[in-house]
Amino acid sequence: MSPQATPARAFPEPRADLGLREGYHSPQVPVEVRLNTNESPYPPPPEFLEALVAQARDIAYNRYPDRSARALREALAELHGARPEQVFAANGSNEVLQSICLAYGGAGRKAAMFEPTYALHSHIAHLTGTEMVQGQRRPDFTLDTDAAVELIATEHPSIVFLCSPNNPTGLAEDASTVSGVLAAALREEPSALVVVDEAYGQFAAWSALELVGEGVPLAVVRTYSKTWSMAALRLGYVIAPSEVVKVLERVALPYHLDALKQAAGRLALQFSEQMESRVAWIVAERDRIIRELSKMSVRVWPSQANFVLWRPESRSGAETWEALVQRSVLVRDTSSWPGLEGCLRTTVGTREENDKFLSALEEVLK
Ligand code: PMP
Repeated sequence: MSPQATPARAFPEPRADLGLREGYHSPQVPVEVRLNTNESPYPPPPEFLEALVAQARDIAYNRYPDRSARALREALAELHGARPEQVFAANGSNEVLQSICLAYGGAGRKAAMFEPTYALHSHIAHLTGTEMVQGQRRPDFTLDTDAAVELIATEHPSIVFLCSPNNPTGLAEDASTVSGVLAAALREEPSALVVVDEAYGQFAAWSALELVGEGVPLAVVRTYSKTWSMAALRLGYVIAPSEVVKVLERVALPYHLDALKQAAGRLALQFSEQMESRVAWIVAERDRIIRELSKMSVRVWPSQANFVLWRPESRSGAETWEALVQRSVLVRDTSSWPGLEGCLRTTVGTREENDKFLSALEEVLK
């Protein structure tokens, strides 16, 4: 086709209700220290990669993969004390969230979320034509259970999103909050599906996984992108009642999970010990960052995730972000997001990266 070719007619219009919303992107600036996307600072263990290469040789590439990802689901079920029928996996937990919205949201239905929270919950709801009902967190970012229950009772959403630990605030919900929201969802007729996004669940003290069961409208979403050091491979899953999983399977495209990813997902679980010790290290390092930030002129929030939200007291967030970039440190600028005025989010990196971030910030705030 000629690059100069001019279309004879106007291009087709995209769906009118799509609007021109920006996607959820963190600018990738070439810097030495990248602490902006909450990945693991370390690659997977070398033995994992060796085993994966060996398995990659045995894949029948001319054939479609196992459509039901049975072996992966069995392995995940064993990890969480669930049944394989209660596991649905997809290409990253974002795709799991999208499948949930496709299945339980859509035209004429609502999804509730409590801002500020993970931007993709509202973004995916919007893309799938689901109406958003946005409740607000308290000024300290905790969730007011009574207000959440009231929102559910007045708006009747078919999906209620919780995010624990919450991105980008870092706060985790406890059993009583999730149970309170779940009870309100159960009072709906038909009951609403409560989705707890636990992308950072391994870094937190408590998981909603213990509340999942047949007959309970609760789905807990997890990812391999953080703890398992597999962001590049795109794999996430949900543990939910088998009835919910059956529905999600019906909205997934055929063979959506490729064979290499299925193998990688199973293999990773054999390295649980290494991953657990990394989580413990990241948690200790996160707490060190919080302690160090508390000594500076910044407000810092408690975190149960692999990142920390903070706000410089005497400079704007955008200015501080820019000054850090000039010192080759990239953090996430959340300062213009509603409810997060002036705030920045830093992912826990390697010890060296964290030190570079802390000393660059000290210099910036001087
Ligand atoms: N949920 C939350 C709360 C997240 O922060 C992220 C990653 N930014 C995701 C889901 C998506 O992760 P992935 O698609 O890589 O599994």
